Amino acid sequence: MTHNKALHRESNQVVIFLGPPGAGKGTQAERLAAEYNLIKISTGDILRDHVTRGTELGQQVAPILESGKLVPDDLLIALIRDQLSKRETVRVIFDGFPRTTAQAQELEMLLEQLGAPISAVPLLEVPDDILITRIVERGKSSGRNDDNEAVARHRQDIYRQQTQPLIDYYAARGHLKPINGVGSMDEVYGRLQQVMS
Ligand code: ADP
Repeated sequence: MTHNKALHRESNQVVIFLGPPGAGKGTQAERLAAEYNLIKISTGDILRDHVTRGTELGQQVAPILESGKLVPDDLLIALIRDQLSKRETVRVIFDGFPRTTAQAQELEMLLEQLGAPISAVPLLEVPDDILITRIVERGKSSGRNDDNEAVARHRQDIYRQQTQPLIDYYAARGHLKPINGVGSMDEVYGRLQQVMS
């Protein structure tokens, strides 16, 4: 619509979504991708697709996904390298990656090589009790066997230990944009649009 957006259409642009499991990253990232002409790379979706197709990687990660633990960094990094190598222009939203400091450092190097700057790191903030309710609700229709209360709590612990340090990592680089993730989908999206402009 604006001049700016038309210009951005041609250039490399990277958005990284941060937030705990159940914060609604996937849904919001999807909508943002459509509006800004970006490709959404959701590592959870890619891994689940491998499990469904029964690939070698899928068989390797299935029990890890089920437990709520993180898949080893080297597998994720190889997967992201592969995704990015396919593209001429790098216009992506990462949903669910990076999740550890090692992944973030690796991504930083990769993006530098590709000449693709990070334009924003939105952080969707949602209180813990709401997160668990949302995940259990989602579990009724998602068919995901990690969407139950026990595994959801475990995923929250892992998020706190391994992924929360990335908040400081991206804040220190001036990319972090905290957003209140409580409200209707449209309300949250409106806040997201504000920080993107
Ligand atoms: P949620 O955001 O609801 O926790 P995701 O779909 O992003 O779910 O991820 C589901 C599972 O996939 C994680 O619990 C983890 O086992 C695996 N996974 C996804 N992304 C990563 C990553 N970047 N590093 C390690 N494991 C990952």
